[in-house]
Amino acid sequence: MQIPKSHPRAKSLHIREKLVNGYHKGLVVEEGLLAHGRGEMFDYLIGEKTSMTSHKAIKAAARMLLGAKHPVISVNGNFAALCPNEIAQLAKTVGAEIEVNLFYASERRKKAIAQALKRSGSGKILGLEPRFSRRIPNLESARRVVDERGIFIADVVLVPLEDGDRTVALKRFGKKVITFDLNPMSRTARTADITIVDNVTRGMSLLIDACRRVKKSSSGKTVRFDNKANLSHSILTIRNNLGRLSHA
Ligand code: ATP
Ligand code: MG
Repeated sequence: MQIPKSHPRAKSLHIREKLVNGYHKGLVVEEGLLAHGRGEMFDYLIGEKTSMTSHKAIKAAARMLLGAKHPVISVNGNFAALCPNEIAQLAKTVGAEIEVNLFYASERRKKAIAQALKRSGSGKILGLEPRFSRRIPNLESARRVVDERGIFIADVVLVPLEDGDRTVALKRFGKKVITFDLNPMSRTARTADITIVDNVTRGMSLLIDACRRVKKSSSGKTVRFDNKANLSHSILTIRNNLGRLSHA
């Protein structure tokens, strides 16, 4: 469908289109489309723009990724369909591994995702070969399988659009977790060390820019970041927006 540029919701319709294309190419599952709907709702409530709080979280995330010994970007179907180029660029900028890690795992889907990532410039993709599979504790069946060269030995993991159970298990396993999650109330948002409450489609390129800036600056400054305060601010933004709308 041709979406006119002047359409008031053109951006979010384009994002939907990317996801539906990803669905037809076998990257995204039906459940992923529903999860996107939940994200869209929160994006609407935060005003479909990156807040000052999220800019702060992005800066903190850039420092954490660049300070990591073994950073890993965990990729699921939605993330691959929405940000294939940015995943490749971020991995190169911070020297991170890319690992396909799915909630609803199937070999076919993993391959389709890996292919799409490679076409967009990613190099080596982990999470595809069973001989490197290891298990993270406290998580059932397929969802706990990770790559021994990737998430298993990572110190920092970027897990966008992740489920709460898995985020909790990663934390218990000793990982530092950075996430993109539009819902500041989700378990993932509350469990991660740094939650970027922003749409990955906006936040990823901002994160890449922030990493490039940190790399250029030689200050090595450590910045304090309080994720609880970050989430409270995000919830306040939603409350203020709702207040404005209900008085309009
Ligand atoms: P949790 O398991 O953490 O409590 P949940 O069960 O509500 O969360 P999941 O389906 O497990 O939700 O995870 C998907 C999360 O990703 C949701 O919180 C949703 O708001 C968020 N999300 C969906 N699309 C995007 C997007 N494009 N950018 C950022 N976040 C998104
Ligand atoms: Mg969940």
